[in-house]
Amino acid sequence: MTMKSKLTGIHYDSCYEAHDTGPGHPESAERYRVLRAALEELPVEEFPRLPRRTATVAEVLLAHEAHYHDLVYRDVVSCSDVLRTGDTNICPESYEVALEASGAVLAAVDAVMRGEVLRAFCAVRPPGHHATRARGMGFCIFNHVAIAANYLRKQHGLKRIAIVDWDVHHGNGTEEIFYEEPEVFYLSLHEAGIYPFTGRAENRGAGKGVVGALNLPLKHASGGTTALAAWDEFAGPALDGFKPEFVLISAGFDARVRDPLGGLEWEDETFEGLTERVCGVAEKWAGGKVVASLEGGYWPPGLASAAVACVREMAKSSG
Ligand SMILES: [Zn+2]
Repeated sequence: MTMKSKLTGIHYDSCYEAHDTGPGHPESAERYRVLRAALEELPVEEFPRLPRRTATVAEVLLAHEAHYHDLVYRDVVSCSDVLRTGDTNICPESYEVALEASGAVLAAVDAVMRGEVLRAFCAVRPPGHHATRARGMGFCIFNHVAIAANYLRKQHGLKRIAIVDWDVHHGNGTEEIFYEEPEVFYLSLHEAGIYPFTGRAENRGAGKGVVGALNLPLKHASGGTTALAAWDEFAGPALDGFKPEFVLISAGFDARVRDPLGGLEWEDETFEGLTERVCGVAEKWAGGKVVASLEGGYWPPGLASAAVACVREMAKSSG
C-alpha cells in the first residue's frame, strides 16, 4: 500500500496568459502574471507542481450543452471580440485556453483522488463560475468547477460533492447547473446587490435538490469578521449536514480590500480563515480532499497575496 501524500499541489502555467481580453480589461493576463510570479516562489518540495492537460469536448459537455460548446468554438474561430452570449471578451486562443483551464482542474481532481496530493490549488483563467449550461457571461467561458463536480460523480463515482464559492460575485452558473441536483451542494458567500444580481438567501435549490444550495449574501463593506461569523453560523453547519465526500472551491479573491470590482473588504486573514474552515469540513467528511480553482481577483498584488495565503493555509490545515 502506498502512503497517501499530505501535500498541497499547485498548478499554474503561462498558457493562460494567451487569453487576451483587450486593453484595460480587469480580467487580464497581467493579473495572472503577478499571481504566477508569487506562486513560483513557493518551495516545490512543499507544494508539488501539478501538470496541465486539455479537457476533452466530452468533459466540457459534463456541464454544458453541446450547442453552447459549438457556439464558443465558432465565435472564437470567427475572431469575434466578445462571446455572443454575454460580457466575455475572447481572442483566437480563448477556446483552447479555456479547455486547458478545465483540464487542469480535472488533472488536479485525479491527483487528489489517486492520493498523490491531499489538496490542490489551480491558478487558471478564464474564470468559470458565471458560465451556465448554455451561456458564457461575466468573463467566463466554461465552468471548470461544475465540470469537475460532474467528473467526480461520473469518473470517480462520488455521490456528495460540495462546492464552496467565496468569489465576491455570486456563481449564478454553478448554482443554475446544480439547482435541482441533490448530489452537489452549492454554497456561496458573496456581496449582495452586485453583478450578476442573483444568489438571494431564499434560493435554496428546487425539486430533488431542495436545500441543495445555500446563499449567504453579505453587505457592502461588511468586512472579514462578518464573513467568518456567517460561515460559523450557517455555512459550517450546512456542510456538516451534507457530509461531502469532496470539496471544490470557487476561489475568487475579489472580495479582498482594494479590489476594483468587489467591496466586501476582506483581508488575507479572511481567506486564511475561510480556507481553514473549508479544510476542516473536508478533514471531517472527505478525507481532507479539497481542490480550489481560481475565479476572480482584480487587484493583482492583492490577488497574489490572498491566493498565496490560501495556498499556505491549505497546506497548514492538512492532517
Ligand atoms: Zn468575481
